Amino acid sequence: MQDGAKTILFGRAKGMVKAPAYSKVLTDSPPRSEEELSKMPHVTRKWEVFPGRNKFYCNGRIMMARQTGIFYFTVGLIVFTSGLFFGFDCPYLAKNISYAIPAIGGVLFIFVMSTLLRTSFSDPGVIPRATPDEAADLEKQIEVPNGSSSPTYRPPPRAKEIVVRGQTVKLKYCFTCKIFRPPRASHCSICDNCVERFDHHCPWVGNCVGKRNYRYFYMFIVSLAFLCVFIFSCVITHLILGN
Ligand SMILES: [Zn+2]
Ligand SMILES: [Zn+2]
Repeated sequence: MQDGAKTILFGRAKGMVKAPAYSKVLTDSPPRSEEELSKMPHVTRKWEVFPGRNKFYCNGRIMMARQTGIFYFTVGLIVFTSGLFFGFDCPYLAKNISYAIPAIGGVLFIFVMSTLLRTSFSDPGVIPRATPDEAADLEKQIEVPNGSSSPTYRPPPRAKEIVVRGQTVKLKYCFTCKIFRPPRASHCSICDNCVERFDHHCPWVGNCVGKRNYRYFYMFIVSLAFLCVFIFSCVITHLILGN
């Protein structure tokens, strides 16, 4: 238990409250008494005690950032402009040019929406925070080269260097997650999590863009550009022929 207490000393105010609940799920906790078990309404899932600031829907299957207002705005913009196109331009263009136009538009629209939802709803590659045990272990490792054993608070080093195939790699320490994060990972201040191969936090899709959803984000951007060009050229054609 002393280790646990040390860990709490070690952490920042935010981590202190949440870390114990998270550790119950992540580590092999000792068997609970009957009384404790009867108090628990159901099995606790990781997303329910998730220490970050993400929101979860559909029993943890959907993961998004806390502020999702701009995401709904994005969806509204795409649906509204595409709706106008399908409602006002497509009937004329299909009749006078080809039925391929609404078909291509429909396929592009479905592709854009599915890649957008995939980007927004999926885990961008969150790196799990250290459990109290792991953090305490890390603290011990840090203590050894230091030599001194004063009980006062001592912040861990901000970076550590490891050698991978002869190459020196610098790992930065995250004070919130209490981990040495891998290269190219970064802490998202909005979601309050370290994300692997972090690109940026995108408010338009309402999620971080990282290792696990980067390809969908990229496909979303490319297909959206195609949809814009397609709709624009169709509308211009309608304007020229229509009058
Ligand atoms: Zn972090
Ligand atoms: Zn984020």
